[in-house]
Amino acid sequence: MMENLNIYLYVIILLLIVLIVLAIIVLVGIIFLYFNKIATPKDLTNDKKTSNSNTFYCTNHPDTHSVGICMICQKSFCAKCLCDHDRLNFCHDHLKLYLENEWQQLETILTEPNQPEKAMVLYDFKKIIWDKENKPSYVVTHYKINFQGDYIESFVSLYVKKQDGFEMTKRLASFKENYSTQVS
Ligand SMILES: [Zn+2]
Ligand SMILES: [Zn+2]
Repeated sequence: MMENLNIYLYVIILLLIVLIVLAIIVLVGIIFLYFNKIATPKDLTNDKKTSNSNTFYCTNHPDTHSVGICMICQKSFCAKCLCDHDRLNFCHDHLKLYLENEWQQLETILTEPNQPEKAMVLYDFKKIIWDKENKPSYVVTHYKINFQGDYIESFVSLYVKKQDGFEMTKRLASFKENYSTQVS
């Protein structure tokens, strides 16, 4: 009889300990979530103020988080505003622009893991012609495994509107000349 009572006591104490441990885990979880919740928006608004790039919020909906960047204007957009076409992302305006025009591959640069910055010239050129002259272009990267070297190569291609192609070929060539003297 006495032994039985002892076993019951042990079981009850054990259950209590398990309950207390569970309660502590839940409490820690709640505290963690709570602090995360108040910390995250603060950090994001700080970022927004300092960088002013709207990296985390939709350009059209300042309260909605962005899911990606338009290939042409490089601005951030939410799921409603960003369209996926041929696995390329565009905002509504620039999807229209993309579909209404013929595009020409201006240049492709092969980068390897030890020199990923080789393609930067294309991104910089794209930014300049868009910011200064409103000339649209987009950059597409294709990846290919180099089996001999056992690494991934990326082919970075810049596309412009076909009617801009002739002018932009010359422009890019002179941009690259100045670029390489700037870098070295
Ligand atoms: Zn856009
Ligand atoms: Zn939006």
